Parts: sequence; C-alpha cells; structure tokens
Amino acid sequence: NWQSETDRLWNTIPNGKTLRPYLLDAASQDLEDLVDRNVERFIGTVKIPTGIAGPLRVNGFNANGVFLVPLATTEATLVASYHRGSCLISACGGCSAMLLESALSRSPGLRFISLAEVAVFLNWLTARRQTLIEIAASTTRHGRLMDVRTSVEGNHVYLDMIYSTGDAAGQNMVTIATEAVLQYVLEHSPVKPRSAYVEANFSGDKKASARCLAAVRGKRVSAEITIPDARVRQFLNTSAAAMVDYWYMGAMGGVMSATLGVQGHYANGLSALFLACGQDVACVAEAAVGITRLELTRSGDLYASVTLPSLVVGTVGGGTHLPSQDACLKIIGLAGPGHAAAFAEICAALALAGELSIIGALSAQEFTRAHQRYARQKK
Ligand code: NAP
Repeated sequence: NWQSETDRLWNTIPNGKTLRPYLLDAASQDLEDLVDRNVERFIGTVKIPTGIAGPLRVNGFNANGVFLVPLATTEATLVASYHRGSCLISACGGCSAMLLESALSRSPGLRFISLAEVAVFLNWLTARRQTLIEIAASTTRHGRLMDVRTSVEGNHVYLDMIYSTGDAAGQNMVTIATEAVLQYVLEHSPVKPRSAYVEANFSGDKKASARCLAAVRGKRVSAEITIPDARVRQFLNTSAAAMVDYWYMGAMGGVMSATLGVQGHYANGLSALFLACGQDVACVAEAAVGITRLELTRSGDLYASVTLPSLVVGTVGGGTHLPSQDACLKIIGLAGPGHAAAFAEICAALALAGELSIIGALSAQEFTRAHQRYARQKK
C-alpha cells in the first residue's frame, strides 16, 4: 500500500502540495512495484541531468568495441571533459583495458576472552573451510566463498570472507552468505566468542582504505593507452611532454597531501556513471582510490594508465533493474547477466578519459576557462 504511505508522507511535508509534482510525476508513480527493494519511505524521484560521453573505443579483455557512456551529474564541464577524453582515446584506436581480479569481502569480528581461546578457535576454523564454503553456497546461486582469511588483534579475530559475486556488485549477497556462515560458527565452535558481528569494518566497504588500494574490493581493473604527441596537440592543445610535467607536479601534490593512490578525479566520472547505471554511489568511496600514471615514451609520445583496484559494480541487482538505470546500461550495451566484467573495464576506460582531459586542461592552462565557460555562461 505504498501509494497511501506516499500520500501520507507528502501530507507531512510543509508545502507538499506545491513540491510534490517535482518528485512524484507520472513516471515516478509508475515505479510502484519496482522501488520497494531500493528505497524506504518513497516520495518520488530526483531528476539528475544526464549527458553522454563518447563514442569511447575500448579494446578490453571483456569490453570490446565502441561505447556510449551516460553520465548523470549537475556539474557543468564534467560530461564535456569525459567526452573530450573519450574522443581522444577513440581517435587513437582505443585504450586497452583488463579486469585483473574479482573479489568482495565481508569481515565478521569475534571477541574472545584471551589469545589462548583465539588459538583454539583458529585451529578449529581452519579445518572447516569446505563446510563454510558449502554453507555460503546454500544462500546464493551466483556467489561463491573463495577464501576465509583471519586477522588477529589481541583477543579479537577478524574473519575476511572473500567471495566472487557473479554479475552482481554483491554486498547483499556476501552479507547474507556471511551471516549463515557466522551462525554455523557460533553454534559449533568449541570456544564461544563473547560477542560477534557480521561486519567489523575490516572489509573496506564504502570507505577509502589502504586495503582498497593494495588489494581488491569488487573488481581490480587497469586501462592504458599510448597517444601520439600530434594527437595530444590536436585534441588537448598541449603536448605529451607538458602533460607529463603536470602529472609529476600533481603526483607530488598527492604525496604531500597523503592521498591513497594518485589520481585526478576518478570520483567525477565514477559517481556520474554509478548514478546513471544504478550502482551504489556510496561505493565511489573505495572505487575512486587508484593510480594514474603518465610517461613520455622514447619517441616523445604519451603513455597513460589508470588502475582502479576497488570497483564495486554490477550489471544485475541493486538499482540496475530500475527503468532509467536499466536504459542507461542498455545505452552502453551492458545491461543484465554476463556484463559485469565489461562494465568494470568501461569504468576504467572512462576514468582514463577523464584523467587525460583534466591533465590536458591543466597543462594547457585551460582548466579555469573551461569551468567559466560551461558553468557561468549561458549557452
Ligand atoms: P541484490 O539485488 O541484493 O542481489 C543480486 C540478486 O541477483 C541475487 O538475488 C542474485 O541471485 C541475482 N542474480 C541473478 N543473476 C545473477 C548473476 N548473473 N550474477 C549475480 N547475481 C545474479 O544485489 P547485491 O549485488 O547482492 O547487493 C547490492 C546491493 O546491496 C546494492 O543495492 C547496495 O546498495 C546494497 N548494499 C548492501 C549492503 C549490505 O551489507 N547488505 C551494504 C552495502 C550496499 P543469488 O543470490 O541466488 O545468487
């Protein structure tokens, strides 16, 4: 009975009558049956302006072809910048992209009395690996518990339960599977923990962490391209050498401010793509950790690479089934099962496009002018 609930909520909002049509238009009302797995206390939808970048040519291991990439944002310049980088990449024959690793962790925490208890517990747990895998498998058709690692801090034990999640981003999947495993552990362990929690903040979920840079959370992906100097001049009004000069300056700025990894603005493209395509936008916290590297080749051309170790993305589950988000995935050509690996490579290719464009703008002294032009002047 969402409609009466929605009506009731609107009645509690001051000025609700006037404001309601901006959120609860006809298309939003049609979401009746769809939103209950995505939001509580539904009052409508916010419309986010959406533009398109590309065609972006990607010669990936999974994403192979020319892609149009929808980006939802209210930041002027963002789509223009990613579009410019995409056109440059495509004009050079495309970038390479490679999914390197897939794994998503849930990390329960267990509190024991002493290290002696911890030792008994770990000894017991190690012998039960196969049982834990089977219990996890009983909760999901597509998720698979690949590894259970342990980390001890005093009388605390952190379990690091690492899953593959098929084409789903997988946070619900790994939570449900881990809860089942944890219940088994609590029932059968020869020493009972004084307390236990299904997640003890070790997994890196929705936060930037050293772990998200050094290991993998979701999908670890690299993309790279070598761009002839003439193309840099043609598309970005600067040179390969000037781009590399800026990259050194920016990399040191990152070191001085102690960023995790070194990159320019992954969060821009990723948040816009995540919003458009029904991803969990809070996962930009870990997804936007990574490394951009620019080098001058011996022939004076530009080598550029991005590595994003913690892309938590999927093409099924979460918000991917909602109509406009599904339409955006269809624009890319990657809606539904079988496409998560390719989508992750698109994320990396898009990040590369954005890094090329912003470094180009900064090294050509065009950064401020572009923002003034797009954000402050009426088109
Ligand atoms: P989900 O929508 O909860 O689950 C994905 C569903 O798709 C599962 O029922 C899965 O079936 C099914 N599925 C069908 N075909 C699949 C395929 N080819 N590959 C994988 N799954 C397939 O989504 P989720 O990815 O597990 O979780 C993402 C959501 O969790 C996001 O909305 C996110 O905001 C939210 N979230 C949850 C937590 C948490 O701790 N619970 C934390 C952060 C975010 P099977 O299960 O049978 O395999």
